[in-house]
Amino acid sequence: MNIKEKDSQYIAHTYGRFPLELTHGKGSRFWDDTGKEYIDMGSGIAVNLLGACNEGWVKAVTDQLNTLQHTSNLYFTAPQVQLAEALCKRTGMKKVFFANSGAEANECAIKVARKYAAEKKGKDCYKIITLINSFHGRTVTTLAATGQETFHQDFLPLTEGFLYAPANDLEAVKKLVEEEKVAAIMAEPVQGEGGVLPLSKEFCKGLQRIADEEDILLIMDEVQTGNGRTGKLYGYMNFDLHPDLVTTAKGLGGGLPIGVCMMGERAENVLTPGTHGSTFGGNPVCAAGAVYILSQINEELLTEVQKKSEYLFKKFQDAPGIKSVSGMGLMIGLETDRSAGEVVDRCRERGVLVLKAKEKVRLLPPLNIPMELLEKAAEVILEAVR
Ligand SMILES: *Cc1c(COP(=O)(O)O)cnc(C)c1O
Repeated sequence: MNIKEKDSQYIAHTYGRFPLELTHGKGSRFWDDTGKEYIDMGSGIAVNLLGACNEGWVKAVTDQLNTLQHTSNLYFTAPQVQLAEALCKRTGMKKVFFANSGAEANECAIKVARKYAAEKKGKDCYKIITLINSFHGRTVTTLAATGQETFHQDFLPLTEGFLYAPANDLEAVKKLVEEEKVAAIMAEPVQGEGGVLPLSKEFCKGLQRIADEEDILLIMDEVQTGNGRTGKLYGYMNFDLHPDLVTTAKGLGGGLPIGVCMMGERAENVLTPGTHGSTFGGNPVCAAGAVYILSQINEELLTEVQKKSEYLFKKFQDAPGIKSVSGMGLMIGLETDRSAGEVVDRCRERGVLVLKAKEKVRLLPPLNIPMELLEKAAEVILEAVR
């Protein structure tokens, strides 16, 4: 049996895999088992922020791997502290909790919000407003937070206490806040899985006002939008927000699993000893890699992301076969005449790996993709959508 047959025999069928086995990568390129080369316009779903096998990241990770790979959270370790300090200094957040994935980072934020509201407003104040079409993870609680029924249906009953409002509908959020006992509002600055849809500035402003006036915590899920993806360090920075909780994962680890829940002033002291934990959370190898990744997300890289974004928007707007372009930074959704699935296949055949988000073609290239590869990929996509 070959790899594909064995995969099908031994691995649960939860993924619709593309018919291709990737064997290695370098920078913004991958190769498959036949030696065919691909330009990476997906970054392993916004994870390989600096591409495959980035030299600085590999060195940071392997140095730590050769020093100490794990200690548990019963001991102090330097990489974790370096990462926490860098995150707090660059965001103004006060404290962080380390987990291993986006869903876990969101679980932490949800626990903080519930405990905060229970202590300040009473145990019956625990509802969290999330947005319709959002995506917050696959655990039973983060599925409940996810405002898409298709993800819910086979796993009922989910964790109780989530309310859903349409994105960019401030009146709907206000109504829920008036009628229910609300602990927090949770949103992605740009809905990723939902179709690469940025929130509007006015809506964000309104959310912030409600959060401030009603002492409701504002949670920004930056699992996909974070770490430079939108052209700012975190997506909320495009909207003048000052969230109480910011979660991130995906790109921060550069390819190794890490999740973070960052806490602002209102939330920093909510979790107390014994109230939350993780065996692997903040693992020194992942943390050392993340310290390196974060150090590379500087003004120069962010300006580069903005320029590449402008280039792609210009290239795709009004192009034949493309109905609309949405997104922010290097997180771009294309509504195409052909079905998204067909465009993904046609791109792959032509040596470019792109993603889907609902009925859109989604682009999430490594932030440091060389301009010539980006231009090449854009030409292939333009050909594939026609
Ligand atoms: C991917 C994603 C998650 C879930 O992250 P995992 O690491 O797969 O658990 C949560 N929120 C958003 C916005 C995401 O894009």
